[in-house]
Amino acid sequence: MSQTKKPLVLWFETLRNTDVPIVGGKNASLGEMIHSGMPVPPGFAVTAYAYEKFIEQTLIAEKIYKIIKETVKDPNDPKQYDAASKKIRELIDKTPMLEEIANAVKLAYKELNKRLNLKNVFVAVRSSATAEDLPDASFAGQQETYLNVKGPDDLLEKVVKCWSSLFTPRAIFYRNEKGFAHEKVFISVGVQKMVNSRAAGVMFTINPVTGNTDEIVIEGNYGLGETVVSGVVNPDDFFVNKNPLKIREKRFAKKTIQYLRDPETGKTVHLDVPEEKQKAPCINDEEVIKLAELAKLIEAHYKKAMDIEWAIDKDLSFPKNIFVVQARPETVWSAKGMETQTKVEEGKNKEELKVVVKGLAAGKRGYGVGVATVVFSPDEASEKMKKGDILVTDMTNPDFVPFMKIASAIVTDKGGVTSHAAIVSRELSIPCVVGTETGTKVMKPGKEYTVDSRNGIIYEGILREAAEATMTPKAAETIVMATDPVPVTATKILMNLGVPEKIADYKDLPFEGIGLMRTEFILASAIGTHPMHFVETGEGEKFVDKLAEGVATVARVIQPRPVVVRLSDFKTNEYRELKGGDKYEIAEENPMLGWRGCSRYISKWYQKAFRLECQAIKKCRTEWGLKNVWVMLPMVRTLWEAEGVLKIMKEEGLERSRDFKVWFMAETPSIAIMADEFSKMVDGFSIGSNDMTQGILMIDRDSERLGQMGYFDERDPAVKRIIAHLIRVAHENGCTVSICGEGPSNLPDFAEFLVRIGIDSISVNNDAVAATKKLVASIEQKIILERLAEQSAAACGRPLKKPAPDWEWTP
Ligand code: PEP
Ligand code: MG
Repeated sequence: MSQTKKPLVLWFETLRNTDVPIVGGKNASLGEMIHSGMPVPPGFAVTAYAYEKFIEQTLIAEKIYKIIKETVKDPNDPKQYDAASKKIRELIDKTPMLEEIANAVKLAYKELNKRLNLKNVFVAVRSSATAEDLPDASFAGQQETYLNVKGPDDLLEKVVKCWSSLFTPRAIFYRNEKGFAHEKVFISVGVQKMVNSRAAGVMFTINPVTGNTDEIVIEGNYGLGETVVSGVVNPDDFFVNKNPLKIREKRFAKKTIQYLRDPETGKTVHLDVPEEKQKAPCINDEEVIKLAELAKLIEAHYKKAMDIEWAIDKDLSFPKNIFVVQARPETVWSAKGMETQTKVEEGKNKEELKVVVKGLAAGKRGYGVGVATVVFSPDEASEKMKKGDILVTDMTNPDFVPFMKIASAIVTDKGGVTSHAAIVSRELSIPCVVGTETGTKVMKPGKEYTVDSRNGIIYEGILREAAEATMTPKAAETIVMATDPVPVTATKILMNLGVPEKIADYKDLPFEGIGLMRTEFILASAIGTHPMHFVETGEGEKFVDKLAEGVATVARVIQPRPVVVRLSDFKTNEYRELKGGDKYEIAEENPMLGWRGCSRYISKWYQKAFRLECQAIKKCRTEWGLKNVWVMLPMVRTLWEAEGVLKIMKEEGLERSRDFKVWFMAETPSIAIMADEFSKMVDGFSIGSNDMTQGILMIDRDSERLGQMGYFDERDPAVKRIIAHLIRVAHENGCTVSICGEGPSNLPDFAEFLVRIGIDSISVNNDAVAATKKLVASIEQKIILERLAEQSAAACGRPLKKPAPDWEWTP
């Protein structure tokens, strides 16, 4: 670019889409929208010329490119990118601003204040890269945004920070990797009046999940739209038919976090949403329709499906309070198709790609493609994770869940197929490979990988077949499954669930109840503090309310189908992760075999907290009338402890009745061996085959080494033999038997074994519900046909001879 007569600042209203090279896509699009009459907050762009002038006239351009050449010697060493980025960003941030640019920016800011009749108006400062020759500038465009910037000095500082964000380690890596010249990438900055958002979010003029072009999907949360864009909350969803405009469906999520402007400091603060507002809609119907009208107009203007950011100003009244702050071609379905198309074209065959590491297949079975982010704590994840990255860590815990939700795949060093990462990723429908032992060492941050969660393999680069597969959005699969014809089965199919809000996605699947609701997710996410802290501070009611609310979220949606609530089963190491946990937990060498389940409930160190858990169940059932809430007790080891727990439950008003079933989880060899005695105390058992396999074979279920060697296998004859014994004895004593471990979700032959020995119900993960229903129907049919064949053979005097199954045993 030559520097003759090039504007340093341009007002949005003077911009059109053709101005992308000087102001970037985001700013150009705002100009285009103002031109078409959209309510866009006013502002201006600091052009790419300004940036270019700055780096050239201050003579830092050469220095920048030299730093990259001299610092990044090994393209595979992430530390070298970090070092180059640090040096360049420091250089840019410290170089004094050219007076000419400073004056132009300050003058424009003054003019903006004048136009708005305000003083020191709050503005959003957003960077927007303008890459002249890049076929895919979208990555380069992922630079920083600063919200609630106030006053000319703060503004200038943030403009420079946006400029320097052109050199994040990721951006340098990307341009190097793709062979794009750093010298040809420039950056513009948008300065836009902040909407003092009461609610905000995004909307799509195409359903991004199903691809339906006849509807508009609006997603929103309280406060700034960042929570929706970054995926840290589950937003409210509004589905609006386009012709005529009519709200088709509303889904209100439990919104726990909001980002707001602090009226005192003007800074963005992260706040909890007050409890009474968490489940209320963040916008009203009138606002939904107005937003949808705008979405339709924008789509008509651009003549393509659009992805639009919106905000509602709390200081203005309807309809003047509604703003569009960003619009770009929709990228999830349509343009994402193109982006994915590029990936498909760039993708290679398996034989051409290097296998970096292998582990155990877990999570959603399929492929995840993305850039690796290697982190060792949720705090680090909150700094580094971007939507669509592959989360690589040693092992996840409940605090990782918000970042797991936005990952394209998850890879862990530790853990087996029943570990936290494996179970949660499955529920969240994300591909996962656990127990790689060295993933965090061999996978490099910023590099692209393909995670094959069917075979537990991680490839360096993009696998073509995987890029093609990821063109199908994941939620669409669930919808397809849900609408398939459902066969009838004698064996009930139930579903496992941990994250209560997820019930909205899975409620239409063909399950007959929740066979395992793990309360640990509520304890870790919605509550977060150790239960004994509530006891000690006399705030037990708070704990009861929150736990009851989590359970009721599910029970309300699926009633009259039952929800079998598994009371808490954290181990000591997990409880310690909760706020205040250190105080109440001991450090155990083997927490898996330690103070967990029923042994806690009867102990003087936890009993009062257990009573609160019981009160939460009572609240759901008696106060809220949710009679479909049942209870299941984990880790039952001895008859005397079981009696003790039931006694406490009775004291808390929880006693078995016609509509209140109490189950024991069968997770220990002892409960199976003594099934006749335990049967006298309960209505049923649910086999926790994860722990049962661990117990029978004496293998740590989280051992990645034993897992890789194939030791963890529910189909081991010893495990099957004890399960068969339990079912027979339980039935003889009038108890039902279910199963809720991972086994039947993963192993069709194990599911067949269970059906053949007459299990009453099988509880599987969400992604296995439809398939298991079909599988069980076919097994039951097969059994009927076999019996007919046996009967007719016997009638002819030629009884069929079959080998004895491996689990059969006559002592
Ligand atoms: C089990 O042990 O099989 C089970 C379902 O419980 P968890 O995996 O939560 O220990
Ligand atoms: Mg268990």
